[in-house]
Amino acid sequence: MAFSDLGLSGKVLQAVESSGYTQPTPIQAEAIPHVLARRDVLGIAQTGTGKTAAFTLPMLTLLETGRARARMPRTLILEPTRELAAQVEESFIKYGVHHKLNVALLIGGVSFADQDAKITRGVDVLIATPGRLLDHFERGKLLLSGIEVLVIDEADRMLDMGFIPDIERICKMVPFTRQTLFFSATMPPEIQNLVDNFLSNPARVEV
Ligand code: AMP
Repeated sequence: MAFSDLGLSGKVLQAVESSGYTQPTPIQAEAIPHVLARRDVLGIAQTGTGKTAAFTLPMLTLLETGRARARMPRTLILEPTRELAAQVEESFIKYGVHHKLNVALLIGGVSFADQDAKITRGVDVLIATPGRLLDHFERGKLLLSGIEVLVIDEADRMLDMGFIPDIERICKMVPFTRQTLFFSATMPPEIQNLVDNFLSNPARVEV
C-alpha cells in the first residue's frame, strides 16, 4: 500500500514525501479512505502508531474545498493537554505546508485576545483543550455551527482527566451532520457510551 493509493490530494502527497515517509502505517492505510469518504471513524490506537497523520492528512484534503468564515471554524480537534494540542498544531502546519489554511490553537495559559483575533479572522482548523474551548464559547465570540469535522483524540485520557461532561457538551454544540473522528487507546464503558451516543455508524479501525 502506498500513500498515493489512499485518495489524498496532490498537495498532501507532496508534504508526505517531504516528511520522508515511505509508506502509510496500518492505521493510516485503514482510516484515511474512510475519512475521505466522510464516514465517522472509531480508531483504537496508541500514540506512536501514526494516528495524528491518519486524521490530519485526509482532513487537509477535505479542507481544500470551501473556505472559513469569521468566527466559524470548519474543523475542531479536541486534545486532553496543551502539549498534545500543540503537537497536533505542528502536524497541521507541517503537512499543510502547501495549503493556505488558518490553524488556531485554543489552550489555557495564553491570552484570550490573541486567540480571539484568530477566531475573528476565520479558522479552518481549530485545535483546543475542552475547558478553554468552552471558555471561548461562553464569551460569545466563537460559533460552532460551521463545524464540518470534529476530532476527539485520546478519549481515554480525557476520561482520566474528568473531561467527559465537557466533551458531551461540545458534541451537542456542533452540528448534528458533522463527521466525527474518535480515537482512544482503550475502550472502557464510559468511552463506549460516548461512541454510541455521538458517532453515526462508525468505521472501526483497530491497530
Ligand atoms: P503519532 O502516533 O501520530 O504520534 O505519530 C508518531 C510518529 O510517527 C510521529 O513522529 C510521526 O512523524 C511519525 N509518522 C507518522 N506517520 C508515519 C509514516 N507513515 N512513516 C513514518 N513515520 C511516520
